[in-house]
Amino acid sequence: MSSPQPNFCPICLCANNVTCKNFRTQRDSYGFYCQACGSFEITESAYVSFFENGTSKLTPVQRRCLSHSLCTYRDTYEAIIITTSWIEKFLINCYLPTASIQASNLIRLLGDKVRETGVGHFIDDVIDSVRIGAFNVPMFNNLRLELEKYGLIQPLECDTIPNPRSPGFIKGDRYGLTLKGWERYEAERQGLVAGKYGFIAMKFGDATLDKFISDIIKPVVKESINYDLIDLRDVARAGIIDNIMREKIRDSAFVIADLTHDNYGAYWEAGYAEGLGKPVIYLCEKTKFDNAKTHFDTNHCTTVLWSEGDHELSSAELVATLRRSLNLFPSSKSI
Ligand SMILES: [Zn+2]
Repeated sequence: MSSPQPNFCPICLCANNVTCKNFRTQRDSYGFYCQACGSFEITESAYVSFFENGTSKLTPVQRRCLSHSLCTYRDTYEAIIITTSWIEKFLINCYLPTASIQASNLIRLLGDKVRETGVGHFIDDVIDSVRIGAFNVPMFNNLRLELEKYGLIQPLECDTIPNPRSPGFIKGDRYGLTLKGWERYEAERQGLVAGKYGFIAMKFGDATLDKFISDIIKPVVKESINYDLIDLRDVARAGIIDNIMREKIRDSAFVIADLTHDNYGAYWEAGYAEGLGKPVIYLCEKTKFDNAKTHFDTNHCTTVLWSEGDHELSSAELVATLRRSLNLFPSSKSI
């Protein structure tokens, strides 16, 4: 390594007296364990390009986004290695979660902790503000107060449990959800609070299908009902892909599953979405459907048939079906 290992977190810069330790790595990289950002490595070249000389070359929002992402990844991922290309890609879509997503994150955090410990969660505004994606501690505390005012979260009255962060007992520091908060928590878990996107389940690597989805279906869905249509490749990050997929399906407004290749993954994802009560629309290439149908559990479901080079009818049918499923008004463009 050409330069000595820095002794503070290059991402959050150890703001608010967060502690950070270094660790040795097996490669040309620096290892950090930061109380707020979690455990991660930065390759030497990424370090030189983005973090060297004690002053981060990233803006405060970019650094905060990075802290938030690392901190949310750490529950799922074994090792996070920040390379130059990783960070370049990261910075393209680098936004903090909106206030309503931060609110959902805090409700989820409190609900999970109460279920895990049975006794509520001692809010640590330094760490928890990073976890939920707030820009800083004051913004986090504003949101916390707002959620209290809305009757979704509440400080729990109990003096018998010591706050592990502070000597003695701090009354009102331990939080849980109200009944209304629990209803919101449950709705989130079941995916009833849907995002503004659809998820497409399909076989990857088939040139005809890939082209049909990227050149026809995704633009048509965006243009006609203003929903992005994402597949796993759009959100792929290193790590446990199943968890990311479940999360994306849970938060989607609908799922489209292409069954042309009888892909097991696409069937599984459609079934998972059906189980959550999401609208699921099936696609299948017409010749395949005419010859061999799809699995008997799905061949009676709404299936939009498509043919290469003849997309107009299938696109219109898909849009009309989506509009019906999502209770959207019909437009003059759709059937
Ligand atoms: Zn940090």
